Amino acid sequence: MRIGIVGLGLIGGSLGMDWVAAGHQVYGVSRNPHTCQQAATLRAVHQASTDLESLEAHAVEVVVICTPIDGILPTLKQLAGCLSPQVVVTDVGSVKEPIMAGAQDLWPRFVGGHPMGGTESSGIGAAQLGLFWQRPYVLTPTPQTDPQWLTMLQQLAKDVGAEAMVCNAAVHDQAVALISHLPVMISASLIRACMTASSGEVLSLAQFLASSGFRDTSRVGGGNPDLGTAMAQFNQTALLQALTSYQQQLGQLIHLIEQEDWGSLHHLLSETQQQRPAFVSIATPDPAIAAISHPSTAQDEES
Ligand code: NAP
Repeated sequence: MRIGIVGLGLIGGSLGMDWVAAGHQVYGVSRNPHTCQQAATLRAVHQASTDLESLEAHAVEVVVICTPIDGILPTLKQLAGCLSPQVVVTDVGSVKEPIMAGAQDLWPRFVGGHPMGGTESSGIGAAQLGLFWQRPYVLTPTPQTDPQWLTMLQQLAKDVGAEAMVCNAAVHDQAVALISHLPVMISASLIRACMTASSGEVLSLAQFLASSGFRDTSRVGGGNPDLGTAMAQFNQTALLQALTSYQQQLGQLIHLIEQEDWGSLHHLLSETQQQRPAFVSIATPDPAIAAISHPSTAQDEES
């Protein structure tokens, strides 16, 4: 296929590398000419330009918008002025409902997307082959989505080694608030709490002693601040619900420890020990999840 990618950073560059490796023709657009050169050198694209109109000149069949979240709809608006009407456009934004709400009027052939992979780094230099291998690749079609567009995007997801799945945008946003956006805020709070160490000596020793447990729990709090801010801005309601629930959980832990209620604390930690594997093992989505997240069901829920 002839694929256009707008925004050659971690996600756009990584998708491009996999699609080039899979034999697709990939054309990139990014703001910075140096990024465009680097993307070509890294074989994330065959050619790249700073000009969106170059995509139409390359007769792309699909365009994947990989800019930061706040750039997705403005980019789609610009694309609408220069793309042929048969081109299918998708995005990779970490939040789907506000994008879907604005995109349908701008481009009828728009299908939302979110490949679930990433690192704490950003920019084209952080792009890597195989970033989405065995990761879910969410697509958020609407009742107006032609099944052929969906099939094409599902194949492109498979070509990066991902597991394509269809989701309702609102359900997606609530789920990622819990497992992606909330952890960023918790992890950032952890780092900030450590910085309140009672003395410089304690802080230095804590920094020296920090090992794999701290590395795991602080990783997403040390990531791209633009992305974390955009998650909060664009998924505000769901993130606030998740943070409020987390605050209640912390309150309960503080209470148990103050009361020296070690039996209840042990019971709580035993429950979380049992509950964790359901979140971290890579498994085929439960058929019940497919049922609640299918767009036709979503339409039923709205009506
Ligand atoms: P990133 O590494 O910062 O890459 C985005 C790149 O887009 C920038 O490096 C910039 O490149 C380019 N850009 C910015 N505005 C642009 C515009 N108006 N037109 C063209 N290019 C533009 O960010 P990312 O982590 O790849 O995130 C990109 C998208 O992926 C976001 O929407 C995010 O929600 C989503 N996402 C992120 C992750 C993650 O873990 N990071 C995971 C899944 C989805 P130059 O300025 O150098 O040209």
